[in-house]
Amino acid sequence: VTKQPTKLKWIGWLRRLIQLTFFLLFNAAIFGLPRTTVTVPVLGSLGQAGKTVVYAFGAIQKMLSWPVMPWIPVAAFILSGVLLGRASCGWACPFGFVQDLAAMVREKHLEVSLRTHFQAINIKYGVLAATLLISGTLAVSLAAGGGRDYEAALGVFAGGPFSVLSPADTFFAVIPSMLRTFSTSISMSYILQSGISFETLWDALKSIKPLLYVRLSILATVLGSSFFIERIWCRYFCPVGAFLSLFSRFSFLGLRRNLLLCVKCGECMKSCPMLVRIHDKPWEKILDPECTLCLECTDACSRKAIKPVFP
Ligand code: SF4
Ligand code: SF4
Repeated sequence: VTKQPTKLKWIGWLRRLIQLTFFLLFNAAIFGLPRTTVTVPVLGSLGQAGKTVVYAFGAIQKMLSWPVMPWIPVAAFILSGVLLGRASCGWACPFGFVQDLAAMVREKHLEVSLRTHFQAINIKYGVLAATLLISGTLAVSLAAGGGRDYEAALGVFAGGPFSVLSPADTFFAVIPSMLRTFSTSISMSYILQSGISFETLWDALKSIKPLLYVRLSILATVLGSSFFIERIWCRYFCPVGAFLSLFSRFSFLGLRRNLLLCVKCGECMKSCPMLVRIHDKPWEKILDPECTLCLECTDACSRKAIKPVFP
């Protein structure tokens, strides 16, 4: 089933502009801006060369592997979730922005049945629980004086069980680093002069580790499906969104649907990239854990019945 295309109106364009601004700001070390310790609850990569901020979920995993209590990144999740809900997903997350750009390429998107949707949204809580379980048990065993065998058994997963497979790490850190290595080891003029033989390519492919194939496959699957299903990663798999949604249900910022203006035409729900059942929520304040406060519904409502509210 295809979803009717929704045309971007002014809030939609404003959101793209703000997403682009955050995208550039978070990567602005490339342009010489200093790195900061500002910790943000969105999905990026700690290994990103030009990053100016600390990505909270990567920091939690890394600090637990030292082992240090990750107070600041956890506080970033709680504060942001309680004050602004999942607005950081809708307006600031670099990987959310990448998915929105992918979705803009196609006019129509696939509709996921509500039954499948409501089952699949739980996957991201499983990813979150598994990550915290591995990092948490490692931290406790290291703090208790043992745990070195456990750490060795985890290998590359010790410093970030989720980060190692995260499509955002592959997109923002692994691929740029591969491109840098490639461009410094093989100059373009060399390729143009001598061409690339089958043997050279085969040797290069053989030198790639299996984990890298897994990472690239995950990224290709996520990006490829983002063209067809809006925010598929955010809806079903992202542990950062799952962590935020634990607090966003108590958020000051929410939505209100004015019952006097609303004619229940359903345009708001058709426009929602997160499939929130707006009409089934309390009209006074919609605080759905899936809602990223993107305000596409506000934009889509011709009767201006939906507005953000704070608190
Ligand atoms: S759910 Fe994850 S990837 Fe999506 S916007 Fe939120 S933090 Fe970013
Ligand atoms: S309910 Fe509205 S603000 Fe929330 S995710 Fe859906 S469209 Fe965006």
